[in-house]
Amino acid sequence: MGGRDEAVEEEALVVGALAAHLDRDRLAAVEARRLDTTVDVQRGADPERVPRAVAVPRAAGGLDAVGRRDGGEGSRHADLVRARLEHERVRVVEAAPPLRDLLPGDSGRLGDLVRARRPPELLTRDHVSRCIVREIKEGRGSPHGGVFLDISWIKARIPHAAEHIKKKLPSMYHQFKQLADIDITQEPMEVGPTTHYIMGGVRVDADTQMSTVPGLFAAGEVGAGLHGANRLGGNSLSDLLVFGMRAGKYAAEFAARQSASRIDPQQADEIVRAALEPFNRQGGGEGPYQVEHDLQTMMQELVGIVRREQEIRRAIDSLKTLRERAAKVSVTGNREYNPGWHTALDLQNLITVSEIVARAALERKESRGGHFRDDFPDKDPNYGKFNIVVRRGSAGEMQVTREPLPEMREDLKRIVEENK
Ligand SMILES: Cc1cc2nc3c(=O)[nH]c(=O)nc-3n(C[C@H](O)[C@H](O)[C@H](O)COP(=O)(O)OP(=O)(O)OC[C@H]3O[C@@H](n4cnc5c(N)ncnc54)[C@H](O)[C@@H]3O)c2cc1C
Repeated sequence: MGGRDEAVEEEALVVGALAAHLDRDRLAAVEARRLDTTVDVQRGADPERVPRAVAVPRAAGGLDAVGRRDGGEGSRHADLVRARLEHERVRVVEAAPPLRDLLPGDSGRLGDLVRARRPPELLTRDHVSRCIVREIKEGRGSPHGGVFLDISWIKARIPHAAEHIKKKLPSMYHQFKQLADIDITQEPMEVGPTTHYIMGGVRVDADTQMSTVPGLFAAGEVGAGLHGANRLGGNSLSDLLVFGMRAGKYAAEFAARQSASRIDPQQADEIVRAALEPFNRQGGGEGPYQVEHDLQTMMQELVGIVRREQEIRRAIDSLKTLRERAAKVSVTGNREYNPGWHTALDLQNLITVSEIVARAALERKESRGGHFRDDFPDKDPNYGKFNIVVRRGSAGEMQVTREPLPEMREDLKRIVEENK
């Protein structure tokens, strides 16, 4: 079991999922066609309903990992770097879009980035992130590993600047004030880039949102393909509404066409046994948070915003060790709301998704959107002709292939050309 629930398969058809109540000592197998029925795998049948999602998008990589293990495909030059700069004075900002509005009539500037240096324009998030990384690498970082962002300079440009900043950036102002006692209307703040979106994911059919595993549907951030190499700001919500609706509609139609297939209790028991294993290793293994932290740090450093072949290869090697460590972690306490246990379950998926990201990043010897290779800094038009697909091979290994993109319609090509 990976994550807090898991698709349970029957001859490559999803027949249900195993769900854990986060706040109760209860695991339940949910049959795919019988949405109102749950079977408590440890205590016998239970009439209580478990809320069920058609597909569970997972920040911790659950569905991506399930999709890959079960023949699904995913990950196109994605970024998976969940490490955050969370020192008291460093805040993760969404690069800079809100700052664009600071000065009426101004195209926007990223303040005084690292005091002396300043990008001439306000650029896209991936570009700003790379600028920050470069500043840190070249020794101009701030004390807590970020850079300084100063927006107080607008005092020189407009009257009532402090009120203006508070009105335009209320949550940013309050967070800094409350968490770090910094008044961003008067002094610089420390900022750093973090993961904003994963562009890769489970490969789905664009119309139905069904993955290559029959019965497994994915929509939203967990699904791959919609946004290409770089998601534009603000369109995630419309993505969810449009493709979430499609996933629900087609999942219901698909379910209605299936004959009653049942969850194999033995298979469910096996998944439950594996899920509970971290409790039985008490005193043996290390804690899950240490492994998670090391994974985050390693991925941030080696497969982060700026990537290089040697570093990606080192990351793939490190993942082997991390996987071994993750298989031995132990947890204590009860099963009711136990974040340590959930982290232990998430770890396998996080490592799987990290490996997919690393292998796809290695394969893409160019820079495009959120994927930047220091050793291949330019976009290569040949790489725009295929997707990188990662599948599980027959021996359980990851297979990386290039799959040609379908030819774009002429009218769409014209629109792209006109907007270049
Ligand atoms: C800092 C930040 C700012 C952003 N700003 C914008 C913006 O301004 N505009 C925009 O369009 N987009 C923005 N995005 C992106 C957008 O928020 C996400 O892409 C979007 O919320 C993804 O929605 P989702 O439903 O696909 O996944 P999620 O919102 O990640 O939902 C997944 C859900 O599944 C649950 N879950 C996960 N695993 C399990 C499991 N194993 N069992 C049960 N439940 C599980 C999670 O708890 C979660 O509730 C931003 C993202 C970030 C990080």
